[in-house]
Amino acid sequence: MSQVMVDVHGVHKSFGPLQVLRGVDLRVRPGEVTVILGPSGSGKSTLLRTINHLEKVDRGWISIDGELIGYRRSGDKLHELKEKEVLKQRTHIGFVFQNFNLFPHLTVLENVTEAPVSALRRPRKEAAETARRLLARVGLEDKADAYPRQLSGGQQQRVAIARALALEPKVLLFDEPTSALDPELVGEVLEVIKDLAATGTTMIVVTHEIGFAREVADTVVFMDGGLVVEQGPPAAVPDTPRHERTRAFLSKVL
Ligand code: ADP
Ligand code: MG
Repeated sequence: MSQVMVDVHGVHKSFGPLQVLRGVDLRVRPGEVTVILGPSGSGKSTLLRTINHLEKVDRGWISIDGELIGYRRSGDKLHELKEKEVLKQRTHIGFVFQNFNLFPHLTVLENVTEAPVSALRRPRKEAAETARRLLARVGLEDKADAYPRQLSGGQQQRVAIARALALEPKVLLFDEPTSALDPELVGEVLEVIKDLAATGTTMIVVTHEIGFAREVADTVVFMDGGLVVEQGPPAAVPDTPRHERTRAFLSKVL
């Protein structure tokens, strides 16, 4: 395993005239939890989307476990990979969205087995056994045959986490996983993410939950205007920020 699991190097990204990422550098070691904080529009979602190549980068590169994502290098040029190769790389990168994105017409169990069966060609029976184990891990073993609409938001998000884990990803990316939840359901989802952190899953979590960042993060990153403004252990960033922009943001969310 590489010393660096996720390496984001000088990443730039614009949408037309809008510069959204302006040279982002980020390194995540295996087993570490990185929490990204920052105001709306600062480029957090775009950064996560470049990490699994849902967005192309304009400049810079990203590697996971030593493998370049979305491109292959030849000489000093990068060539974009074919869609099939990108999809294969994406199986190593779990993504949990704000709005769960479960397949509404599939049961919970089918949601969790779909990707292992179709993308990894796992036998259905084996995938189902793994799925039941993962559902137990997120506290939903009794919901295997339910449909997403029959579950609370917190339960749906826990299914989405089990689904992401089913591909045994090298890294899990969370984009505001609790922002769409009623306040009383936030805790159960954060608990599941906390458990994963304790078992050494490498994660990047975009969230406004400062308490979670303090408790779980190895590194807290503050982004603003498409740049990493500061990063460090929780005792440094949320508790004693050095930059005025970080302080101003934290004074609003705390
Ligand atoms: P955050 O997640 O920090 O709120 P985003 O990465 O979603 O920020 O967005 C950063 C900026 O990029 C915003 O101004 C947003 O409107 C813009 N943006 C994001 N995706 C696109 C897109 N596909 N096309 C055009 N603009 C986009
Ligand atoms: Mg966002």
